[in-house]
Amino acid sequence: MGLAWLRLMMLLIPGPVQTRPETQAAMAQDIAPWDHGFRPTYARIRERVRAIAGGIAGEHVTLPLQGSGHFIMEAAIRTLVPPGAKILIPMNGAYADRMARLAREAGREVVTLNLPNTRGARAEDIAPVLAADPAIGHVALVYSETGSGIVNDVPGIGRALREAGRRMLVDAVSAFGALPFNMAEHSECDALMFTSGKCLEGMPGIAFAVARIDTIKAAAGQAGSWCMDLADVLAHSERAGFGSIRFTPPVQVLAAFDVALDLFDAEGGQPARHARYRANADTLYDGFVAMGIKPYLAKAEQGPIIVTVHQPSDPRFDFARYVEALKARGVLICNFWTTPEPTMRIGAIGALTPDDMQRVLAIFRETLAEALPAAA
Ligand SMILES: *Cc1c(COP(=O)(O)O)cnc(C)c1O
Repeated sequence: MGLAWLRLMMLLIPGPVQTRPETQAAMAQDIAPWDHGFRPTYARIRERVRAIAGGIAGEHVTLPLQGSGHFIMEAAIRTLVPPGAKILIPMNGAYADRMARLAREAGREVVTLNLPNTRGARAEDIAPVLAADPAIGHVALVYSETGSGIVNDVPGIGRALREAGRRMLVDAVSAFGALPFNMAEHSECDALMFTSGKCLEGMPGIAFAVARIDTIKAAAGQAGSWCMDLADVLAHSERAGFGSIRFTPPVQVLAAFDVALDLFDAEGGQPARHARYRANADTLYDGFVAMGIKPYLAKAEQGPIIVTVHQPSDPRFDFARYVEALKARGVLICNFWTTPEPTMRIGAIGALTPDDMQRVLAIFRETLAEALPAAA
């Protein structure tokens, strides 16, 4: 496979990501989602992602939902946290804010814990809050905070929650498939949420929770929404078969996702993907430092998913124009930022390699020289 296809446009946004041509090609067909020709594909995808999550057959189940990451986060919170119950959310980035909003709007009582957005949350941050408030039954946290690039210590916090007898929900949307997590070792984890279009390198359009069967069953009837009820997703699977889905899915996205999972396996699964993204992120981080662009995070806190850097402080720097100039050269980055200070976010994920990142850095350098002639 040559690089010609990449040269059209490199997508360096933190999802949806650059996909392989094989994945894209699988979309170009008409498919009947309830037909017996497609059901095995859907059922197989569910088994494959459960395995990636380290889920145990008979103990964990994959519950898909049409839509993006917010939809599955809302569904998981509505399904698993009883109405009016307390849920603790460590706040250290844009996606934690979003989770707090959707939990609140679902009528759950959100307890927030403000933490700095420049380092990952750790068990010792959370433990005192739990000790002080026994009514907090659930903790929801973001694994990779896509707003800044930090990684919260989900395995460590999970162990602390298990000791404290509390339940954990994880927004693994920008982590799943790259950062390690083994549900078999985390009985406190009720559900891990993610989508087709980030580290698994599929198209956007379908979201998943890998969840504990016992807690999902015990939660039947409390979602307050048919569409968002993951207990109903499970009940439907048991009634109609695991190859059947309740409502029309983005069926071409599912077909492409099955191919994306083949490519994930061929690459060497989660460890290999993690290693490639880590190398991408390190290449970007070191390259920006060499260019005189300051990273938002200390190197030790820099996760492998997204690299955030400060915008140049030169008053001539116009971010919107810079993004367009990069795009004209074939590099597409996010055109907004979610940190308090003006930053640029560059995705290290997707079907891209450290060599691609070197090309990206050269394009950043060229574009910067054009935008700020004297400074460069
Ligand atoms: C992308 C992302 C989401 C979901 O965003 P959608 O646009 O709804 O797919 C949620 N959490 C994190 C950490 C993300 O990176």
